[in-house]
Order: sequence, then C-alpha cells, then structure tokens
Amino acid sequence: MKFLVDEMLQRLGSWLRAAGYDTVIETNGRNDYDLLKHALADKRYLITRDRKLAEYRRAPGTVILLECENLEDCIRALGEKLDIDWLHQPFKRCLVCNTELQPADTAALATIPPRSRKNIEAAFYCPTCKKVYWEGGHVDRMRHRLETWQTNRNNNRRVAGDNAEQAQ
Ligand SMILES: [Zn+2]
Repeated sequence: MKFLVDEMLQRLGSWLRAAGYDTVIETNGRNDYDLLKHALADKRYLITRDRKLAEYRRAPGTVILLECENLEDCIRALGEKLDIDWLHQPFKRCLVCNTELQPADTAALATIPPRSRKNIEAAFYCPTCKKVYWEGGHVDRMRHRLETWQTNRNNNRRVAGDNAEQAQ
C-alpha cells in the first residue's frame, strides 16, 4: 500500500511514514482533481477528509474519506477502512521527506549529540534531507505508540473474527 495524504492530515501522513509506508503528503495546495490524478497514476490511496474528493467518478477504490478530528481519531477511522500494519517497517522512511533511510555513516553519527551517542543501538540517516534518526529517546517513544496502535488493530481483528464466527 502507498498513500497520498491531503494537507489537512499531515500528522497522520507522518505516522504512516513512521510505520514504513511510502506516503506523499500534499503541501502544494493542488486542486482536488490533480490530487486524484496523481493518486491514480501512482496507485496510491488518497486519504482525505474532503467529501468533494470522494464524489469523483474515479474516486471509488482510491479515495479514502475519513471523518475524524484528532490524530487518535483518524488512526481509528483509517483502521476501519484499510488494514494498516503499524509495525510494517518502522523507521524505514524519513518522516520529513519519505526517502528510504540508510544506516548512519561516520559523518551522520558525528551530528548526534555526544550525550545521546553513548546509548545508541542503531542510527539511520536520510540521504535526501540529511536528517539523522537514532534508536533511543524520540524514536523509542514513537515505536511505543506504533505498538499500541498495532495492539488495538489486532484486538479489533480478533473481535471481528469472533463476530463472523458467531454469525455463522
Ligand atoms: Zn529526509
């Protein structure tokens, strides 16, 4: 699964990147039809809260319309429409620009504050925007959040499975 996320849902888009999904976040203010064309051409799901986008003839199967307010709400709403694996490939992509991360080289490691550098288990960097990510601190907290969403997702799937069984 690949995604194109509209401007209003930028945070959700960053979290999809954190989970490892190839996610373009719209920041150019393109019109609805151009967004839809991009999503179709690139075989991306277009995630939006814009009801008008869902009304295009070519929208079904591509446009994922969410009704949600805050991040947690949107995570839940998205989970009802698509089976998102929140532990797909955590921290494989740059949160800022979507580029695939690479193991940090010496130069990248040198940019990490010495105090943090001591306790690092693994570090990665983005060859495009040069941002450096390391296990420990922020990345750990984000991973914990992904794990929580994944647990919720698995619990929901179990409940859905039980209900299906009872219905038979
Ligand atoms: Zn980057």
